[in-house]
Amino acid sequence: MKKFFNTKWFTLATYLLLLSAISLIGFIFLQNNQTLKNVIVSFFEVAENRTFDYRQTLKIVHKQPVPNKDIVVLAIDDASLEYLWDKYGEWPIPRNVYADIINYIEKDKPQSIIFDLLFIKSIRATKDADNALISALNKYNNIYVGMNFDNLPSDVRLPINLPERLSVELKNNSNVDIKSKYSYSNCRTILSELLNGNVKVGLTNVIRNSDGIIRRVAPIVYYKDKTYPYLAFVAGSKYLEGTDVKEFTIDSSKNINIQDLKMPLNKNGELILNWYGVSGTHLNYPMYKLINDMENRALKADRMNFKDKIVIIGTTATALHDTKSVPIQDNVYPGVEVHATFFNNMLDNNFIKQAEPGINIVIVLSLILMTILIVMYSSSTIFALLSTILFAIAYLFMSYYTMELFNLWIPVVIPMMSIIVTFALTFIAKYLIKSKDFEYQYKLATIDGLTELYNHRYFQDMLRQQIELSRRYEQKFSLIIIDIDFFKKFNDTYGHQSGDAVLKQVAQTLKKNSRTTDYVCRYGGEEMSILLPNTSAEEAIFNAKRINKAVEERDFQIDSTQTSKVTISIGVSTFPDNGETPQDLIEYADKGLYYAKEHGRNQVGLANQE
Ligand code: GH3
Ligand code: MG
Ligand code: MG
Repeated sequence: MKKFFNTKWFTLATYLLLLSAISLIGFIFLQNNQTLKNVIVSFFEVAENRTFDYRQTLKIVHKQPVPNKDIVVLAIDDASLEYLWDKYGEWPIPRNVYADIINYIEKDKPQSIIFDLLFIKSIRATKDADNALISALNKYNNIYVGMNFDNLPSDVRLPINLPERLSVELKNNSNVDIKSKYSYSNCRTILSELLNGNVKVGLTNVIRNSDGIIRRVAPIVYYKDKTYPYLAFVAGSKYLEGTDVKEFTIDSSKNINIQDLKMPLNKNGELILNWYGVSGTHLNYPMYKLINDMENRALKADRMNFKDKIVIIGTTATALHDTKSVPIQDNVYPGVEVHATFFNNMLDNNFIKQAEPGINIVIVLSLILMTILIVMYSSSTIFALLSTILFAIAYLFMSYYTMELFNLWIPVVIPMMSIIVTFALTFIAKYLIKSKDFEYQYKLATIDGLTELYNHRYFQDMLRQQIELSRRYEQKFSLIIIDIDFFKKFNDTYGHQSGDAVLKQVAQTLKKNSRTTDYVCRYGGEEMSILLPNTSAEEAIFNAKRINKAVEERDFQIDSTQTSKVTISIGVSTFPDNGETPQDLIEYADKGLYYAKEHGRNQVGLANQE
């Protein structure tokens, strides 16, 4: 049993047991502590999202993506807001102004006009102004307006029933689950008359991650168990398909399909936006210029021509606070530019796809394996560390390029942590194995394999050391030499196997009858020796006699059934009384041993006995 506690298996088992105990406690703790679990999960989520932001920012610096020139953001910017204030004396502006704008732009035959505006009533609203807007919106079939879903209680506002024409059919052949995250019970529209006309309506809901940043858009959500599309999604699908799309299909690989275009949804039914640049990247045209153009049409040669353009109208003025945080470093976007980005992603087939969990597991396992190999095969610590760092950097580059080139988001945070943890654990394991190996080598070099006593070489080293120590501290020490009696005959009678067994048992008996500070060694063949530090001649002889008696009295096991008696002869010498060199001491003890052999064996012989 004592042996087992010294093996490396015991060490390994202890580590494994400890590790599983810690994991189990951690697991139970997390199971019972939902808050802590959420904190940990959201820590990883926020960190991973951050790496997405860095990749997006770097991509914009490196690749400088070109936004689609057909998309025009007609912006109510700070200058326009001031202009509108001066001109109309109020914000929001009277609704008939929008009617004029629509009629003006429509003359150029634009592809579509998308309003990211809720047409909030002006203070001096008139029924005529409302009617002008309603009739302008319904006159064309390429105008899109927004509404918002929320989950406000019905005593704030009564949830309305939306007309049939606004909803779309959704065929979901995948495990994408939109309903559990995106089901709404209330709806916000400003001009309810619009719902009953033929103007197209989509959602302007934005989705923020827990850190408040917009990275995803749900193209289709649930309201009262029916499905409704995102504003830029209705307009974009009309653009791609040529006609209004009333039915969407999610295929088994979680893509939402329009014509040949496959847009990759995640498991919550969200599309991940791919950004083009800082705010203002899409072609911007300020509203005040447009109103100037409208009033002086014939005069303006450099006026904006909207032919075949996708016109997205919204506010960008900082005073109106319609700003959102986006992944592009330190930047805020007006909502209208988020719509432009979504539309552009549809046109370029450019949404980001997050790698599937299966792929993530493969990635993490390969990184762990590679790190283990690097550490195991590195000849030095510094080389292992540098190689691992280089390897991690190579992975970071890969994660960047897979996003830039393939729009694929492979994870970074958990892989990096895996590399660090694996590096640390492998390093410790390597060190443990090395020290175990050293112990083993040391044992091989000092211990005799058969008897497990110290070997001859170790005996010689210790003898020299004892002489030096005893000389310095002016102490005595003794040496006992033992030889088994008639061992040749024993071998001849019972065979070498039994001889070996007896050798082992004699060794055990010697150890048992020595102090832990004594060195019991195999001198060679069936001869053994004991070094007794700080021991006088009298004490050594007393001890030798005790050992002699113990061997004499013991029954030695020859095989599983037979036992036999064995005796030994012993010689003793003491430093410095009988010699001051190894040779002298061994010779003196040998003399005693010879005396014992000569005088009937099974005794302690003394050199000076005669
Ligand atoms: P005595 O010492 O009493 O004079 O007689 P002996 O027969 O023991 O004589 P000696 O010490 O000279 O013989 C040593 C014998 O011990 C020779 C060899 O057969 C045996 N022997 C030595 N080493 C081993 C070993 O490792 N295993 C076995 N089984 N026998 C060994
Ligand atoms: Mg011998
Ligand atoms: Mg012998």
